[in-house]
Amino acid sequence: MRSDVAVVAVGGLRGGTDTRVRSDVGSSVGRGAGSCAGSGRRLGIMGGTFDPIHFGHLVAAEEALVQFNLNTVLFMPTGAPPAKAHRQVSSAEHRYLMTVLATAANPDFNVSRMEIDRSGTTYTIDTLHALRDIYGPAAGLFFITGADAVWEIVAWKDAEKIADVATFIAATRPGYDLEAARKAHLETETRFKIECMEVPALAISSTELRERVASQRSIRYLTPNSVVAYIDKHGLYRSGHGPYGTQP
Ligand code: ATP
Ligand code: MG
Repeated sequence: MRSDVAVVAVGGLRGGTDTRVRSDVGSSVGRGAGSCAGSGRRLGIMGGTFDPIHFGHLVAAEEALVQFNLNTVLFMPTGAPPAKAHRQVSSAEHRYLMTVLATAANPDFNVSRMEIDRSGTTYTIDTLHALRDIYGPAAGLFFITGADAVWEIVAWKDAEKIADVATFIAATRPGYDLEAARKAHLETETRFKIECMEVPALAISSTELRERVASQRSIRYLTPNSVVAYIDKHGLYRSGHGPYGTQP
């Protein structure tokens, strides 16, 4: 069995710098904070359906920003997500606007329309190639996912191609056995660069929020107030099944 995957668990508090991470992310990416301005820019990409966005997403993005000295985190709502074909997903505009509302006050967070403006099924590899074209070969691309999602991605058919383009940051998620996953992953044949990141445990999921709205329970303090108000205004998730609410 061959495994040259880089898996590094990092702790770290706000403002802390973990040299293990920076020395482990490969020569093709920028080194450390401040290495922006063209070459060496470190870009975090937080992909997700964001139906709706919640504090679990925001905490994971913030921790990645700090722990990996990223210059910015780009939230990337998916267009037509292949993994969610079994349920009705809210319109891309609703998901995009909620993501903008949730991130608007943070100067280090931005939202991209790249995937929602692309027609057809969304593939992460296409997004990463497009970002590589925009930011250039010296930029470090860090794809942030929950630990549950990263191992699914690794199992994709064309996943190996992603290994050349980006480093993955896997955020811990309550109820998920990161250690077991890490061991299983080490036994697979892959060239993936995966960094594991501890984040404050938030047992929140979009599914839970949708179910709460459908059964008239509160979602306050699980997602920013602006998102709570948006969901209410447009009647999202009330039926429990979708299609959801009014058009934006
Ligand atoms: P759903 O319940 O509809 O699957 P979700 O809460 O998992 O929604 P997604 O939009 O599917 O949200 O997730 C986007 C990314 O954020 C994924 O990589 C997912 O693993 C991660 N993520 C979601 N919730 C959390 C959380 N509470 N803590 C850490 N990461 C999370
Ligand atoms: Mg999910």
